[in-house]
Amino acid sequence: MIKTCRIARIFAQKDNPEAVKLRQLLCRLVVHYHFIEVNNEEDAQRYFKRPLSELKLPVVHLPCGTKLVQPTESDVLDHVGFINKPKYSEYDLAIYGAGPAGLSAAVHAGFEGLKVILIEKKTIGGQASTSPLIENYLGFPNGISGKELAERARQQVVNLGVEISFLQEGLKAEFKDGKGYGYLQDGTKISARANLCACGVEYRRLNLPDEDRFFNAGIFYGAGASESPFCKNEHVCIVGGGNGAGQSALNFANYASKVTLIVRGSDLSQTLSTHLVEQVKNHPKIQVLYDTVVSKLSGGKWLKEIEVTHSKTGQKKKIQTKHLFVCIGGIPHTEYFNDTSVIRDSLGYVVTGPDLFQNGTLPSHWPLKRQPFFLEGSVPGLFAAGDVRHNSIKRCASAVGEGAMAIALILRYLSENPAH
Ligand SMILES: Cc1cc2nc3c(=O)[nH]c(=O)nc-3n(C[C@H](O)[C@H](O)[C@H](O)COP(=O)(O)OP(=O)(O)OC[C@H]3O[C@@H](n4cnc5c(N)ncnc54)[C@H](O)[C@@H]3O)c2cc1C
Repeated sequence: MIKTCRIARIFAQKDNPEAVKLRQLLCRLVVHYHFIEVNNEEDAQRYFKRPLSELKLPVVHLPCGTKLVQPTESDVLDHVGFINKPKYSEYDLAIYGAGPAGLSAAVHAGFEGLKVILIEKKTIGGQASTSPLIENYLGFPNGISGKELAERARQQVVNLGVEISFLQEGLKAEFKDGKGYGYLQDGTKISARANLCACGVEYRRLNLPDEDRFFNAGIFYGAGASESPFCKNEHVCIVGGGNGAGQSALNFANYASKVTLIVRGSDLSQTLSTHLVEQVKNHPKIQVLYDTVVSKLSGGKWLKEIEVTHSKTGQKKKIQTKHLFVCIGGIPHTEYFNDTSVIRDSLGYVVTGPDLFQNGTLPSHWPLKRQPFFLEGSVPGLFAAGDVRHNSIKRCASAVGEGAMAIALILRYLSENPAH
């Protein structure tokens, strides 16, 4: 069993650029750490009992006892339960994406004794790791931070013997001879009997200065249903003209004193379903600003005001609001299926199970007599779970649930296709 490290310590000068890289790495790995400044002779004596000139900083201490001197990223990865090179030439299952869906799938697959590799390109915990407080996750009555949930899941995954290949992206997929192959950015080729795409989505952003600063401090991405009770008697602004934005406006109108829908186009009927257009237009609390974009954000620690610009006249206007919901869609991470026959919807989400039927017929390239399992894509043995899946519910618990369910279906698939 691999030993996991809970709290690391980085010793370095305050502005040591290598230490900055290591800090960012540990942060994305959701490994807790303390940063200890070693700026002068006094610090050098206190922590190392040696002159500053003799020290090779940064030094990283891991609670499992390992001390690393001027480590590279991959030295650190080696010691916190991640792998540099895959151990096996073939896996039972390769999981792409270590958000809630991928982590949950990894836990269940590890628990079932499968030979599994989990590949993550950026952040353990995915989108959820950016949430300061998840309040709708079962078993945490006071909520839990996304980072802590991710850290707990990471430890559980490692303890169950799953290999995690971190800072590796699946760039290209290939399916042949009943197996799936993933080509990673460092040239590694992963071969697996079953594959799970749990790559999630990235919400489109406004790309404005200060957008990061107000993230979850006035700016929210997606329809924000869980935020609605906190917007009682407030003026809520929503960016977007699609169904997500329209439904969100109607939902917020139940709580807010006023809802302003900020739409880039001149008409809602192009982007919004007919029944919603009428409801939105006729709602006494909803105002629609057409041909309008958000051009500036301001406030202190929390958003206070936005500036909007009319794209045809250039006229600017300020709106006092503490709640701006950006509903301009998400981009699913499925480009690596580009040269495959994996069916995706018009937005790029992976289509699975019953949704693969068109007018009662399965795609012509589906080769089996049986129907695709509920989370199986249009290629046997390729499954999708979580936000990346067409028509999925974009929630942490749903992603975790789908990750677990995917493993039950993958076990059925593997038993139909035993290893030779
Ligand atoms: C700020 C914020 C707050 C939220 N708050 C809540 C909340 O309070 N409650 C709630 O229920 N939901 C919340 N959500 C939604 C919830 O986080 C998502 O529904 C959930 O994270 C989806 O999980 P996932 O595993 O499907 O995808 P993701 O979380 O998107 O994870 C996908 C992972 O795959 C990785 N990846 C992508 N492409 C590749 C590739 N090619 N190779 C390798 N890795 C790849 C990504 O880096 C990412 O880590 C919030 C979302 C955000 C953004």
